[in-house]
Amino acid sequence: SNTLMAGKRGLIMGLANDKSIAWGIARACADAGAELAFSYQGDALKKRVEPLAGQLGSKIVLPCDVGDEDSIDGLFKALRTHWSSLDFIVHAIGFSDKNELRGRYVDTTRGNFMMTMDISVYSFTAVMQRAEKMMKNGGSAVTLTYYGAERIMPHYNVMGVAKAALEASVRYMAEDLGKDGIRVNAISAGPIKTLAASGIGDFRYIMKWNEYNSPLRRNVTIEDVGKSALYLLSDLGSGVTGETHHVDAGYHVVGMKAVDAPDI
Ligand code: NAD
Repeated sequence: SNTLMAGKRGLIMGLANDKSIAWGIARACADAGAELAFSYQGDALKKRVEPLAGQLGSKIVLPCDVGDEDSIDGLFKALRTHWSSLDFIVHAIGFSDKNELRGRYVDTTRGNFMMTMDISVYSFTAVMQRAEKMMKNGGSAVTLTYYGAERIMPHYNVMGVAKAALEASVRYMAEDLGKDGIRVNAISAGPIKTLAASGIGDFRYIMKWNEYNSPLRRNVTIEDVGKSALYLLSDLGSGVTGETHHVDAGYHVVGMKAVDAPDI
């Protein structure tokens, strides 16, 4: 534990359970002295998120469905009753119909395309519109993306298209909000077994491939992502904005299968 985040207040969006990337980030921030608030989607998650928040000393646990503008307004209205200002925000939210996270991208339906873009891309912009107003002393925001934005990955399909748009939105928001000292970055995490990831076809195979072929010859953990998020969210990242930072055991620099990789 350290004091990097002492005196800083942050909102964590996208915690579902203790496997969530949001949990790795929340723990790293709390260990560094941050005061945290959490939002959860739907009543079913409330009873999971409240005890986890409690473990990190947080009593601020609020509902928010990011597909609904009124719900986002409600979240920030409620947050303001607890805090007058906000220092950082974590957006760890994505969603697509799992029937379209297999098979061909070209078969994506219009309805799921729009829904995936809405929940996985626009929601971060919508949230930053509200967060900006509370970040009176500047601030830092981090969202989560994946290499499927840059290269074809099996089954990632419409989510890859959405992550490409998310990364572009990070760059545009970095410009818009930079003048007010607000930094906006993305972490491109390697594959991690979470609830959201379980919807992706052949995910076990993808995990094995990354383990055998990444320079570090392992998969990353939510603790790895948490530590890198801490850098971007704290003063350590003061000169960094608009960036997509890979926390993927180096996989994104690899050109071909490793010569020592076993068959899978
Ligand atoms: P997760 O299932 O633990 O988290 C996904 C969260 O999104 C859940 O908390 C869910 O409630 C929330 N969510 C979905 N729709 C929502 C809505 N309409 N309103 C509010 N919240 C909503 O899985 P995770 O893997 O921790 O996912 C977090 C982020 O990390 C996602 O953006 C995901 O794409 C990204 N990511 C994951 C991996 C991986 O391999 N797990 C790799 C790179 C990036």
